[in-house]
Amino acid sequence: MFLWESIAFGPIHSRRLGSSLGINVSPTDVKICSFDCIYCECGWTLRKDIDAKNFAPADIVLQAIEAKLQKCRAENTHIDSITFSGNGEPTLHPQFPEIIDGLLVIRDKYYPEAVITVLTNSTQLLKDEVRRALLKIENPMLKLDAGLPELYQLINRPTIPITLEQTLEGLRDFHGKFIMQSMFLKGIIDGKPFDNTSEENVTAWLKIVDELRPKRVVLYSLDRETPAKQLVKVYKNDLEPIADRVRALGIDAHVYE
Ligand code: SF4
Repeated sequence: MFLWESIAFGPIHSRRLGSSLGINVSPTDVKICSFDCIYCECGWTLRKDIDAKNFAPADIVLQAIEAKLQKCRAENTHIDSITFSGNGEPTLHPQFPEIIDGLLVIRDKYYPEAVITVLTNSTQLLKDEVRRALLKIENPMLKLDAGLPELYQLINRPTIPITLEQTLEGLRDFHGKFIMQSMFLKGIIDGKPFDNTSEENVTAWLKIVDELRPKRVVLYSLDRETPAKQLVKVYKNDLEPIADRVRALGIDAHVYE
């Protein structure tokens, strides 16, 4: 599976974000995540220990980002978004708030027109310092792939003790100031069929969307190789009717294929 080999990479073209300069604050040789999603393009989560010593210090991260932005600016490279994704969950970095504060200064110096995006799995939102940092940027993109607790556990396979309800507690604290990203897929896991486009799950998920009222909901499906092998992509013609139900709640929704 695929791992990014540097702290700052790209820019690459993103379906959702345009010209996106990637930021990886996780190690470059292993994925560290509080989830083990069945669809993760970085492969299975082999390291379940989340230890501060595994992460590069904030000053090293910020130096690497500044050098990259300086080079991109000198080469007149267009950047729409400076995007935290990379080899795992960025908010697990022990100095994530310091990195965001430093990046805001660097972004304003080199690319004031670019937005900062953090793709997060929403497991760390109950930490005040993480939530406050995410609220400082333009695009906190918070993951919620399931409306039913059993599907949350099956699709995202948390490596820390966390439930769907605890995740929702964190999401509620954003008071709608976020973009929700939801992966839709189906297939077979451990010999059992599952489908998060089922009416039962979509109804539960829509109830949550209506309660949380994010600025926008992004619906997407599989795009790259996945660690679980019996997964099936959901195409735009099946995602649009779900997006229409979000729009009927008065909430913006976009489907990316
Ligand atoms: S949250 Fe993201 S990085 Fe973590 S396992 Fe899921 S897809 Fe991979």
